[in-house]
Amino acid sequence: MISERMKPLVENNSAIRTMFEEGKRMAAIYGAENVYDFSLGNPNVPAPPEVKQAVLDVLAEEPSTFVHGYMNNAGFEDVREAIAGSLNKRFHTSFHQNNVLMTVGAASGMNVILKTLLNPGDQVIVFAPYFLEYNAYIRNYDGQIVTVPPNTRDFQPDLKEFEKRITEKTKAVIINTPNNPTGVVYSEETLKSIGDILERKQKEYHSTMVLISDEPYRELAYDGVQVPYVTKYYDNTVVCYSYSKSLSLPGERIGYLVIPDELEDSSRVFGAASIANRVLGCVNAPSLMQRVIRRCLDAAVNVEAYDKNRNLLYQGLTACGFSCIRPQGAFYLFVKSPQEDERQFCEACKKHNILVVPGSSFACPGYVRISYCVSYEQIERSLPAFKKVAQEYGLTE
Ligand code: PLP
Repeated sequence: MISERMKPLVENNSAIRTMFEEGKRMAAIYGAENVYDFSLGNPNVPAPPEVKQAVLDVLAEEPSTFVHGYMNNAGFEDVREAIAGSLNKRFHTSFHQNNVLMTVGAASGMNVILKTLLNPGDQVIVFAPYFLEYNAYIRNYDGQIVTVPPNTRDFQPDLKEFEKRITEKTKAVIINTPNNPTGVVYSEETLKSIGDILERKQKEYHSTMVLISDEPYRELAYDGVQVPYVTKYYDNTVVCYSYSKSLSLPGERIGYLVIPDELEDSSRVFGAASIANRVLGCVNAPSLMQRVIRRCLDAAVNVEAYDKNRNLLYQGLTACGFSCIRPQGAFYLFVKSPQEDERQFCEACKKHNILVVPGSSFACPGYVRISYCVSYEQIERSLPAFKKVAQEYGLTE
């Protein structure tokens, strides 16, 4: 009954579900406190108090037919204008409301922009390791995914390999910084180089290549590191933002696209993206959440809690011999598997009640992703178990 297109998605989904079910099964046997589930990217830090207050204030102060009604497919004008103003203040840009399109989170934002841009057979370049959902998003619009192999030295994109993969069919390039799964923040130098390469290749092929910057982790950065604003380095950039992690609101489904004036054909792209938002069935981003975001532009989650987790886990794992680059953003560690087949390493971890995700799920075998958006206590409790795994692999005494 189900379509050919859905069949591989259903098969892949069962792998993720198996891990989820496994976590539940293990918790029932060993007790939840003795299972160390580092597999999910679901924020454990609560939304800031301003969010709850804003929900109450919106409901008390704004007319209900307005708050709960339809609006322009791109979102409420005043919300878009306020977001544009906030970005301008922070990043010295000059956006206005017709550069900001409210979306149902980043997942939907990515789908909206890919639907807006792709013709069948158009190529979209991604840098491994990457969020594997991009495969499905690109295939939704009959695009072809082209993967740049990982640069395991520091997980900044491999620019030589990138350049080799650009063809006349390249329509878009997706970057994600701070990165899921590595936690790496792309440097200004990297972003400038990506922009320069794309400029050059556009001229060579007389074509337009759009850089899509997927940024759900923008606000989760540590050690004072700056996450450069990508529109500064390349005109044909679209930013895909989400409040799922920055305000811990993943279930509320709220985010936006920035489609700058500098983008070629900007106003037609914006109009088409608004229609894509409608015909994909979202129609518009959730209205109550738009009204809430308007009041929470300066709110932030407790990033220090993630930072504390990061330090504890990074120090704990490296002290017992695991190797991993120190992440500067997001809430993931990408740890080198001590054996070539990282799936077997995941199985070895599972014997100690540790659940981690194989790097193959991010097109980067030989590594595992460990999500530290869990309680500090879970990390503390898990370290002796990690040490036992390290001992089994002869990494520590
Ligand atoms: N992009 C990346 C890199 C992600 O890690 C995620 C979620 O984990 C998303 C997009 C989707 O986020 P959202 O909840 O905003 O749809």
